[in-house]
Amino acid sequence: MATNFELMKLPYAEDALEPVISRQTISFHYGKHLQAYVNNLNALLPGSGFDGMSLVDIVKKSNGGIFNNAGQILNHEFYFGQFAPSKANNVPSGKIAEAITRDFGSFDAFKEEFQKKGTTLFGSGWVWLSADAEGKLVISQETNASNPAQRGLTPLLTFDVWEHAYYLDYQNRRPDHLSALWSIINWQVVEQRYSAR
Ligand code: MN
Repeated sequence: MATNFELMKLPYAEDALEPVISRQTISFHYGKHLQAYVNNLNALLPGSGFDGMSLVDIVKKSNGGIFNNAGQILNHEFYFGQFAPSKANNVPSGKIAEAITRDFGSFDAFKEEFQKKGTTLFGSGWVWLSADAEGKLVISQETNASNPAQRGLTPLLTFDVWEHAYYLDYQNRRPDHLSALWSIINWQVVEQRYSAR
């Protein structure tokens, strides 16, 4: 049966993340870049042997153009699904907060390491927080379209460090963009991803 992947629905309005992420950036990043990955994957699937598989299975098993587009769809579904309007003192709670303190010492120490990995990733890619089979948290740099699910980890939180994610709003100031993202993280979503593993 033919698969036809669809563009995810945003759980907020296109201007809801301003001023951290502008409506203009959402309109290009979600409306153009992510839509193109969906269109490209749908065009590549027929006859490829991957038709009918789940997105995660395609990411784990494919390579080349199919992997690049499927990986980017999966990455962006986690990315756009994890935000909410900006809040002061936006911190995690529950089991994910306990795990962050256990594995990184404190929320501030975690944020510092996560941002450092995002700032120092050369070129295009993603910084991820994931959980291993025992629930231990790990931060990883993933280049281009890669996702920690390829190594059997459970993806929890990600910052997109492709230039298309921030250039309209922050130009070359990637560190400023990354530090601003903490105020729009929907920690309930991250907690749900952690609890569901
Ligand atoms: Mn992106």
